[in-house]
Amino acid sequence: MASIGLEQAFHKQRAIIPGLPTICAVNAPTTPSPSSRPIRELPDELISQIAAGEIVERPASVVRELLDNALDAGASQVTVRLLAGGVRLIAIEDNGSGIAQAELPLALRRHATSKIANLHDLETVVTMGFRGEALAAICAVSDTALLSRPEGQENAFLLDARSGELRPVARSLGTTVEVKELFYSTPARRKFLKSDATELAHCVEMVRRQALARPDVSFAIWHEGKLLAQWRATLVPGQSGPDALARRLADVLGPEWVTPSLAIQHTEGLVTVTGRIGLPEAARTRTDQQFVYINGRFVRDKIITHAVRSAYEDVLHGQRQPVYVLYVDMDPTRLDVNVHPAKIEVRFRDNQEIHQAVRHALENVLAVPRAGTIASAPTRTPHTSAALPLAVSPAPTPQHPRQISGPQEERIGYPVRDLSLLWGAPAAIHNFTEPVAPAAPYQATECAPTPTYVQTGAQAATHEENGVTPPWPLGRALAQLHGIYILAQNNQGLILVDMHAAHERIVYEKLKAQVDSGKALASQPLLIPATFAATAQELVIAEEQTATLHLLGLEITAISAKTLTVRAVPATLAQSDAVALARNVLEELAAHNASTVVQQAQNEILARMACHGAVRANRTLTLEEMNALLRQMENTQRSDQCNHGRPTWQQLSLRELDALFLRGR
Ligand code: ADP
Ligand code: MG
Repeated sequence: MASIGLEQAFHKQRAIIPGLPTICAVNAPTTPSPSSRPIRELPDELISQIAAGEIVERPASVVRELLDNALDAGASQVTVRLLAGGVRLIAIEDNGSGIAQAELPLALRRHATSKIANLHDLETVVTMGFRGEALAAICAVSDTALLSRPEGQENAFLLDARSGELRPVARSLGTTVEVKELFYSTPARRKFLKSDATELAHCVEMVRRQALARPDVSFAIWHEGKLLAQWRATLVPGQSGPDALARRLADVLGPEWVTPSLAIQHTEGLVTVTGRIGLPEAARTRTDQQFVYINGRFVRDKIITHAVRSAYEDVLHGQRQPVYVLYVDMDPTRLDVNVHPAKIEVRFRDNQEIHQAVRHALENVLAVPRAGTIASAPTRTPHTSAALPLAVSPAPTPQHPRQISGPQEERIGYPVRDLSLLWGAPAAIHNFTEPVAPAAPYQATECAPTPTYVQTGAQAATHEENGVTPPWPLGRALAQLHGIYILAQNNQGLILVDMHAAHERIVYEKLKAQVDSGKALASQPLLIPATFAATAQELVIAEEQTATLHLLGLEITAISAKTLTVRAVPATLAQSDAVALARNVLEELAAHNASTVVQQAQNEILARMACHGAVRANRTLTLEEMNALLRQMENTQRSDQCNHGRPTWQQLSLRELDALFLRGR
């Protein structure tokens, strides 16, 4: 029995293992140096204690192992009771299949498991546990009791691991494992524990992790006799998987987590990725809300973290950390779960396969502009109800009584009857009135890669004639505020758009699409070339990087030893300040390694160029221009964030406005 002779084993351990200072110091004068000692086999107990060092780091590790066992036993209800942050007691009770009386002592033995029997089982393992060492390791460093009653057994039996005593007790079907006084036999390790509050927080985190993966199981956590958290099973017969998952995530992580998040469902080859990911604006400074499960097991994995990061790259800048709960399901034979004693790391047969599946799963969802999915429900944060699967209503309908306005409604602005005019023909742009035009005029560029919301002019006109706001997700422009924001009315209420941020994204996506298609950016010669006094570095780069500049739609040539002239700029950026654009691009090229610049720094350069092409603050837009911008946003990937990851628009619902004015109270 694992616990018999623990004290003895511990003393032996201290005598032979260097690094346990008190004993070594006392024995120092009489004990031979470790190298002169004879080789001997370690006693079983000591082997278990050493193994326990890898498996049981702190109370939370015990919680994880015991929860794994409960889930492997098919439990639908698990209760965790703790004393002193789990240091004095961890008791985990389940209603799973139980352990037969005769097998109780076996369960505590090292390398004894019911989960695998041969190499093939190991390679295809689908249970949480399989190494058969958790209970043995836990027994080696605590005072453990195992209490269980399987179906068909009249009594439950309790096995005291320390004394080896086995006696009948009363219990319903299932198992309870009680772990008392963790590390009592290894005081050196006990010293490494943090405060009870910290250990408790780690234990709760462990339960949260498991709860996130199993919405079909109810969990409860008690500490010092108080109920800390209780999460009822949300996946019950008749309930859809994604809904149950969203509910469980809301219960465990808070409704404010789920609201600004998007559902993931993607299969690529043999890999399926599901779950929910936070919108870019929900990102945090810490990585504490990143949960990844592979075949149901919580893991930390660099490949997946990297894939997620690259999917967010274009919408989340700086050090912000996205939040996500991802479940990767794959053929177990393409995965090695037996590479880490606590099973928190895995190894994939094909890293690329996993990386791509995860990246594509997220990219696809992050790229879709969300304006079209705003539900009519009241919203607190931007885009909120759009994200909830429970609340998505793809075709917003006017719901607020005040929304349906009669023909007497004052006409604000005029309908954009033919949007293609705005995208395509520069002539239309020149017709725009420009009361104040200090900066380059805003160019409503041709865009709309996958027009989803563009209505025909006739449709829009019919709506307008009926006095109803056409169901454009971002609504109809009403006015411009302080030269910075566009105010628009949609069926839910008021939309506020940061016009520079939004336009910057539109231009950026357009530039990227052109470059990604393998063509050079369409270039437009300047009627009057722009000349500027260049630095020596600018001259060198302009000369060396002619090909790259050509790819970026720029033609920059030296006309003297100190002067460069810009002869052509990308057509998309035709209205921007050519000299500033040229200097910025030369600076970017100088900062990057010439040979790899186009691939690696491409997006950075394009983003910088887009900033030049985007309409500036304080530039007055006509209503038609504003409407054109709104329609472009609805049809541009990632248009909910600017190139720096900030939101480009916000919705203020009528209900929120009513609340502001205390209406209806
Ligand atoms: P492993 O989980 O790797 O098999 P453990 O040491 O955790 O190893 O558990 C040993 C065995 O004890 C398990 O294989 C299982 O048969 C049994 N067991 C442990 N906990 C439970 C439980 N809560 N319910 C039913 N059986 C259990
Ligand atoms: Mg186990």
